[in-house]
Amino acid sequence: MFEVLVTLCALEGGDCRDMLVPGHEAATMEACEAGLSAAAAPALPGLEAKGAPFCAASGPGLSVEEVAPGVFVHTGAIAEPDSENGGDTSNLAFVIGTDSVAAIDSGSSRAMGEDLWRAIRARTGLPVSHVILTHMHPDHVFGASVLAEAGADVAGSHRLARAMADRAESYLTRFRQEIGPGFLGSQIPAVDAEISDSVEIDLGGRRLWLATWPEAHTPTDLTAADSLSGLLFAGDLVFDRHAPVIDGSLRGWQSVLAALSKMSFSGVVPGHGAARLGWPDGAEPLRRYLDVLAGDTRAALDIGLRLSSATAAVAASEAGNWELFELNNPRNATVAYAELEWE
Ligand SMILES: [Zn+2]
Repeated sequence: MFEVLVTLCALEGGDCRDMLVPGHEAATMEACEAGLSAAAAPALPGLEAKGAPFCAASGPGLSVEEVAPGVFVHTGAIAEPDSENGGDTSNLAFVIGTDSVAAIDSGSSRAMGEDLWRAIRARTGLPVSHVILTHMHPDHVFGASVLAEAGADVAGSHRLARAMADRAESYLTRFRQEIGPGFLGSQIPAVDAEISDSVEIDLGGRRLWLATWPEAHTPTDLTAADSLSGLLFAGDLVFDRHAPVIDGSLRGWQSVLAALSKMSFSGVVPGHGAARLGWPDGAEPLRRYLDVLAGDTRAALDIGLRLSSATAAVAASEAGNWELFELNNPRNATVAYAELEWE
């Protein structure tokens, strides 16, 4: 397959990257070039096109595994985003119906969104009708604009647009620093479909049930469930192996997990870790961690332990169960202290 690329360069600094113009794929070089006149360089703030769009053999796209018929998952590294992993640190999925495709989360950068698009195109020519964002975190949202340029509606919590706008500057600055030139062209996506309760999306032959939740991992959490496979796409409401991050409410997360656990799914695709786990047992380590964190924090508060001493002690028994624990657990302890202090 062949695709259209265009070289875009930063107005400041001069870094350049050949970026995908999605939606102009063709079976042959000749057919691709015949369609070039319809391909326009994406308008990206701070970048300018160097030369006209051109055709090239399609890149390989993200590696994915088919965890259920028509359900593909890419697993990111259990790591913080950096220039080496290119921000490939979270799980992304796409679900193929008989009419259209929905992607669930989109990666840390435009480059990842381009590789997600390539992975979809390698498996189906159906339109991508939706890109569903499970929450506001930058490792899940920065690839979405690529799919939106190709016609997909960006769907997310009714709180998502505001939450991303409030954090845009810090997300952009941090990921630009951590990922480096590979982040070029990434931007906060516009949210086309704001979901305040739940909604169903019909992909043909299967429906995705999207549901928003009270503040838990973040204030913007949304899950998707597939009617055909019975799978739950939990976003970061479920972490596996990767130490959880609380950027919302500890008690809220505990109660959302309790509510989800009562619901029947054939399995879960977590936001970090394995491509697919059993349900509800796949969330058991996370439930245990949150319970230990809450219990230890209450005990520390009872004996008047100061936060500075508590961050090393709280949930220390969980250290061996998680990667990135030393990084994330002290932050979680700080959140837990602030939240449980006034119970
Ligand atoms: Zn997250």
